[in-house]
Order: sequence, then structure tokens, then C-alpha cells
Amino acid sequence: MKRQLEETFPSNMTEPSNVLVVGVGGQGVIMISKVLTILCQQQGLEVKQSEVHGMAKRGGSVFSHVRFGGHIYSPTIPQGEADILVALEWAEGLRWLPYLKAEGGTFLVDTQQIVPPFACRDRRINARRGYVDKNMTELIRQIPNSLALDAVSMATDAGVPKAANTVLLGALSTALHFAPEAWKKVIEDTVPAKTIAGNLLAFEAGRDTSLALDEEIPAVSHQEKTDITEDVCHYNAQLEINEAWCKSCDICVRFCPECCLRLDEQQIVELFEPDLCTGCRMCEWLCPDFAINVHLETVFET
Ligand code: SF4
Ligand code: SF4
Repeated sequence: MKRQLEETFPSNMTEPSNVLVVGVGGQGVIMISKVLTILCQQQGLEVKQSEVHGMAKRGGSVFSHVRFGGHIYSPTIPQGEADILVALEWAEGLRWLPYLKAEGGTFLVDTQQIVPPFACRDRRINARRGYVDKNMTELIRQIPNSLALDAVSMATDAGVPKAANTVLLGALSTALHFAPEAWKKVIEDTVPAKTIAGNLLAFEAGRDTSLALDEEIPAVSHQEKTDITEDVCHYNAQLEINEAWCKSCDICVRFCPECCLRLDEQQIVELFEPDLCTGCRMCEWLCPDFAINVHLETVFET
């Protein structure tokens, strides 16, 4: 059985409709709320938007309230009053769930997990992290109108790896009674010209999405276990660094337990002491721009 969002509102424009968008810095929270705000204005609705940029460049929390309807007084959504909660990161979605209407609220969440630095104190491979470990599949099944999707992978499949937010916009559009062409026009006018085609593909991917309810949503990676004990093997670690995505925030450099990363002359991260790298993945987990992938090769001792 497949699940898709029900189109629930706006049905009565005398009442405000409330959409709360949450995530962490660098994910595109503001872009989603901006597109929605412009779209509502173009539909002749009164709209108010407010936003808080946390430590945006360093992966901090970012959220934006969008309220629209016949007449809007306050720009902020009270707790328990969000008609739709759009979360670009799993733990942020859980953190903001109390803002969703208990009856009839729509929950749209990216399964992307961005682990904050304080959750990575233990650097051993497969060490448990202080990241929420609530079962995604169970939670999504408990909320009648909800959808969890791997927007990052979907955007990557669409050829626009950084447009996960536009995938979520596409999914959000299925819950709102606005014509798809109107959404696309606003997206075209909002994103950089060279990314329009890719963003429209990502939008369509989001509109088409659905989650098979009998599929398990991938578990958080700290639950992965290996049955290979460390006294009979070790790991060779290879870092794959996407230089185009690195925005020089320095997080990985500061948190690498082995101090084997640095920013080069162009302020792009580099692994300057590869022999020291243990493959702990902390840099991969902490990078807010997904610029590092750690590949581990298991080496058996003979
Ligand atoms: S690779 Fe390191 S310096 Fe570059 S964006 Fe990611 S965390 Fe920041
Ligand atoms: S560079 Fe290696 S040791 Fe440093 S955080 Fe990344 S995986 Fe861990």
C-alpha cells in the first residue's frame, strides 16, 4: 500500500492556514517558505511569514512560519496550531511535532539526519550517538496524514543533489490546493537561472513521491552493528570530498578527533594526514553541506 498526502486545505479562507517549515542551516528552509509566501500573495491571499535563522552556516536550527488566508494578524504559529509541518531533517521534525495540530495535521519529513556536534562525543566506529532513535516507520504510521521521504536521494536521482528542499516543495504542493503550474512559476522566478531545470525536475519528483508503508524507513546509522570484532580486523578509510559543496565552515576540521583535516589555501577542506584518519565518520555526520563521504574498507589480519 502506498501513502500520499491528502489535499486538506485551504478550504475555508476565512480561517488562517498555518505551515511551519523547520530544518538546519544550509538545507533551504527559507527557500521553501519564500516560494509558498510568494505563491499565496499571487493567489490574492493575505500572508505573513516570519523566520529564525539559527547558526545557519554551522548547521544550527532554522525555522519559518507561513500563515495565509483571508486576514492574518500574527506572523507566528502557536503550539498545536500548524496545519502542516515540513521538516527537512528528522530530529528537527520530531522536535517541532508539538506544533502540529493533533487532529488533522499534516507531517512531511525528510529522513535526512544531520547529527549535531554534541551528539558525537564517542569517536569509536559504530559508537552510539546521542541522536534521536525513535523508529521512523512507527511514527509515520501513527500520524494519519504524514509522509517521510529520502529527499536527498530523490534529488540526487533527479540530477540535482542540492535540491532536496525542492523535492519537499513538490510533496508539499500535493497537500495544498494550488495549481502545480503556479508553484513551478514561482520556483522559476526564485531559484538561480542555471538551476531552474533541475529544480523543476526535483519538484516533479516530490509530487510523484509516495512511501510504501510496508517498507522500513532506514534506521539511524548508529544502530548499525558489525559482527566483525576489531581484534581480527581494521579499517582502511577513504575520504571522498566534494570540493564544490564545501563552504569552509571549519566544523569538520575542529571536530575531527585525530586532527587530520584542515582548510587549504582556497579554504576547502582537505585530509592532510591520511594515515591518522580512523574512519570514525564524524566529519561526514557533522558537515552541514554533505561535502564529505567516508568509505570504509574492512581489512582482515592474517
Ligand atoms: S567539508 Fe568541513 S569545512 Fe567544508 S562545509 Fe563540510 S564541515 Fe564545513
Ligand atoms: S577525517 Fe577521519 S578521523 Fe577525522 S573525522 Fe573524518 S573520518 Fe574521523
